[in-house]
Amino acid sequence: MPQNHSQNKKFSTRIISEKFKKQDVHGAISMPIYRNAAFEFPDSESIAAAFQYKEEVASHTYTRITNPSVENLECKIKAASGAENVMALASGMAAISNTFLTIAYTGSNIVTSPHLFGNTFSLFNFTLAAFGVEVRFVNTDNIEEVASAIDENTCAFFCELITNPHLEIANLPEISKILKMRNVPMIVDATVIPWCGFDARKAGVDIEVVSTTKYISGGATTIGGAIVDYGTFNWAHNKRLSTVIKKDGMSQFSFKLKREIARNMGAAMDPETAYLQALGMESLQLRFEKMSTSAYDLAKFLSEQNKVVKVGYPKLESSPYKKISDSLFSGNPGAMLTFCLENKEACYKFMDRLQIIRRATNLFDNKTLIIHPESTIYGTFPPEMKGLIGIEDNLMRLSVGLEDVADLQADIIQALEDKN
Ligand SMILES: *Cc1c(COP(=O)(O)O)cnc(C)c1O
Repeated sequence: MPQNHSQNKKFSTRIISEKFKKQDVHGAISMPIYRNAAFEFPDSESIAAAFQYKEEVASHTYTRITNPSVENLECKIKAASGAENVMALASGMAAISNTFLTIAYTGSNIVTSPHLFGNTFSLFNFTLAAFGVEVRFVNTDNIEEVASAIDENTCAFFCELITNPHLEIANLPEISKILKMRNVPMIVDATVIPWCGFDARKAGVDIEVVSTTKYISGGATTIGGAIVDYGTFNWAHNKRLSTVIKKDGMSQFSFKLKREIARNMGAAMDPETAYLQALGMESLQLRFEKMSTSAYDLAKFLSEQNKVVKVGYPKLESSPYKKISDSLFSGNPGAMLTFCLENKEACYKFMDRLQIIRRATNLFDNKTLIIHPESTIYGTFPPEMKGLIGIEDNLMRLSVGLEDVADLQADIIQALEDKN
């Protein structure tokens, strides 16, 4: 039966009380893991009806296309975001690549910041470039620069909600005004702030892409991604989607994505991943609020340490993005912060002395993680590209977890001490 996506229920209640599309035969209270490839049908008529989308509640036919456990996670993300359509995929990169494979065409361009997640940068700069898709890097702080990069073949404006590790925040409502006039969709990678802290629709975002590996997975359990379509963009303005029809409650974008692109690319989410991530969704708000409160505490704490030369966190008075951060986000701006020591050597020594904080990539695990981006994430980038991206070699990125903040402070203090 159609769900009641009541928006007057509060965030966590909406996620936890979301009902299955079809009643479980055993009354299981959590959606079971449907770990099977195919689904059988009682007769030829019903399998034909399923393939032709003729039933009221869509039946599943094959797990690369849809699966009940994956659909359950999609329903929870829909309940959380209030979006029109959600598609869960195998990774955040699958969400991003499938989005652009749906809207880009030879001769089209993407207007974006060069400050991107490493693989997104590589996707735009190398992978899509081979198919004649141009990437136009702009400074998203400069609205005129964004406006003048757009032309009739711009398939999207894209940015990350808070760039990593630069921690810049584009003025999405201002940029959205220009995009609306020019009929360009706004696509935002919102991995860093989940829906309880950021109202994407209000900010003018048409489509969100999310790495559910981060907050959603509930402690870095699994790799996953989601495409969240608010249904707000008129795709008649996209040369490739203008002939696609809006159908079955889907925008032209979601229709093409779900019925063609995603199933051809085959990066389906694994049902076991969906089970763990649906569980992660239920505690998302609780974890996000705790982690981001600790991150703000640690940002202030680090600012007071003599050996720390710079701290980056959008809510600090020292951040040029404080104003836009306060206006876009309802709570603290997430659990990612950066800080600089005197030089790279000092960073290495500091990291090697840590006892609670782990040296690992990834973000928004339950564990606090630290990384030196210049030598790791960007370690194999040629110098000219490092220059374009602008990575300082005395900067470390911290993703704050669920440990007690006093223990994290103690670990930082002992690691800052000069012991040799
Ligand atoms: C991790 C991350 C991705 C990629 O997600 P995967 O799940 O690792 O594929 C994309 N964007 C941002 C901002 C990320 O942090």
